[in-house]
Amino acid sequence: MRAARPVDVFVLGLGPAGARAAAAAAHRGLGVLAVDRKLEAGRPVQCAEFVPALIGIDVAQLAGSVRQGIRAMDTFVEDKAPDRTQPFPGQMIDRAAFDARLVDGARAAGAQCHFATRVRAIAPDGRVTLDDASCIAPRVLVGADGPRSLAGRAIGRANRELVETRQVTVALGRAHDATDVFLSSAIPGGYGWLFPKGDVANVGAGVERAHMGRLKAIVAQLHARLAAEGRVGREVLALTGGAIPVGGMVKPWGRLGDTLVLLAGDAAGLTNPVTGAGIASAVHSGALAGDAAAAFVGGDGAACLDYEDELEALFGASLARAVRRRRELAQSAADAAALRRGWIAYPEYWMGTDHLSPVSTGDKP
Ligand SMILES: Cc1cc2nc3c(=O)[nH]c(=O)nc-3n(C[C@H](O)[C@H](O)[C@H](O)COP(=O)(O)OP(=O)(O)OC[C@H]3O[C@@H](n4cnc5c(N)ncnc54)[C@H](O)[C@@H]3O)c2cc1C
Repeated sequence: MRAARPVDVFVLGLGPAGARAAAAAAHRGLGVLAVDRKLEAGRPVQCAEFVPALIGIDVAQLAGSVRQGIRAMDTFVEDKAPDRTQPFPGQMIDRAAFDARLVDGARAAGAQCHFATRVRAIAPDGRVTLDDASCIAPRVLVGADGPRSLAGRAIGRANRELVETRQVTVALGRAHDATDVFLSSAIPGGYGWLFPKGDVANVGAGVERAHMGRLKAIVAQLHARLAAEGRVGREVLALTGGAIPVGGMVKPWGRLGDTLVLLAGDAAGLTNPVTGAGIASAVHSGALAGDAAAAFVGGDGAACLDYEDELEALFGASLARAVRRRRELAQSAADAAALRRGWIAYPEYWMGTDHLSPVSTGDKP
């Protein structure tokens, strides 16, 4: 076996969570090595590209990636006319450009960022093996490697519940400034969407894994309906998809020998289980993970506990409510009333005798 290269912080994955973690840790003077198996940042895009307005306050890189503003959300329950939620401020971004800008930010802070580099294995002593068989021995390993996180599995913290998605990009017939959401018992465990992005739109759906076999037909049907209404073109310009964690937050840290492992973004299960929105929480948790890594390397052995507390304070209530609503809907007849109670646009979603209150993930209208 080759000698392992020591490094303060190794970041696995250069999506929004990893790029922000790398930037934060490098900014604090640590040696940071970050890798991603993709050939370039953000491509292929696996995202519907909507972010809530508030994300712009602390992510300067957003500015150059915005493709259009969003002012409202239109929710269609079965075949009923839509219910409009306004204001529902946000932006449609060019996700590939956004991710690339975040990586530029990490490099500018001093992090070494390498693409086309896959992590092959993570050993019980925390050593990381890359696909060229080289070996890294990090003080801190930040697992920002998405829903099926290798780092999460290495510490026994895998996302157990995933929704599968499929999305086509099509021409948009007429300008639109709302995100359209389609709720139906025929889309189990998820919803359909039309998100406008300038002269194109992302049209897709997510469903429980058990119904994956129907996903292609569900999206084709939604696309055909929207095309028949003259809202979008028939030609498919791009096709994507991917998994979304919907089980809520996993414990976001663990130890492998002397190495501290911190999970961020989708790897930590921070995507909202109802909306599927995870960019904002990836960005925020990534920065916090980078700060926690710096604190740990600086001698603060409790940095991982503080990190967990911060994530819980920021996202815990919102995720807990969404997990609960998802489960209620799954156990119901999924009639119109149940669909409304399971979606953020309706007051029923936010009601409850529990102690939970919405928090700043941007998912509350
Ligand atoms: C179809 C779809 C639509 C979505 N739409 C929205 C939306 O509109 N708004 C929103 O907020 N969220 C949306 N999401 C969710 C959002 O995309 C994620 O929450 C977000 O990307 C999480 O960021 P991340 O950095 O945690 O993970 P990711 O962006 O998944 O980044 C993880 C990175 O790790 C890399 N990686 C994984 N394993 C390895 C390995 N072994 N070696 C090297 N690299 C590795 C991957 O290549 C990837 O680049 C959507 C998701 C899907 C699938």
